[in-house]
Amino acid sequence: MQVEILIEETVPSAMSNDNVGVETSKLIPSGKGLHARRDFLEREEIFIVEGQLVNYSTLRTLQLTDDIHIDPVDKDGEPEPGYYLNHSCEPNAYSYVVEDNQNLSLRIYALNHINKGEEITVDYSFMETAITNSCICKCGSDYCRGKIIGFKDLGDEEIENYLSKNLPLSKHLKELYKRKKNVF
Ligand SMILES: [Zn+2]
Repeated sequence: MQVEILIEETVPSAMSNDNVGVETSKLIPSGKGLHARRDFLEREEIFIVEGQLVNYSTLRTLQLTDDIHIDPVDKDGEPEPGYYLNHSCEPNAYSYVVEDNQNLSLRIYALNHINKGEEITVDYSFMETAITNSCICKCGSDYCRGKIIGFKDLGDEEIENYLSKNLPLSKHLKELYKRKKNVF
């Protein structure tokens, strides 16, 4: 079955987006991060990740399905908001791949109330099946794993803890977890 995949074109880029802006990151020395331009309620949608669909993963791609990743740049290679979405082991946002009439979109939601000006972070371990060249994490959280790992390398306890908060797992992660737990 051929599934048509579209990234919504209607969301403006970071530079003209009322929700998020790019500023100096508190997490990455001399790096940039995505910051809230207004308050967000818990579970409120913050933005839709836009970019180029590719069939490989790199350090900057974000996973959409088992085979498809989003490289968060526009057609000219200019960064989209997702480019600046940094990882934290204790994030204030989460992602979910929404399927609507066979169109897939990767959406970022507030995990808890986010104040205007806060840096928006997600846990890559609940986005990516595997992390290519997994690197040291310096997010500074008390819960820091020490390195950024993929979902396939997470312990069951951490996944169950995530699910117990009623957070949704995107299909590519849910299927992997089901296979691992042998649940059908
Ligand atoms: Zn960390």
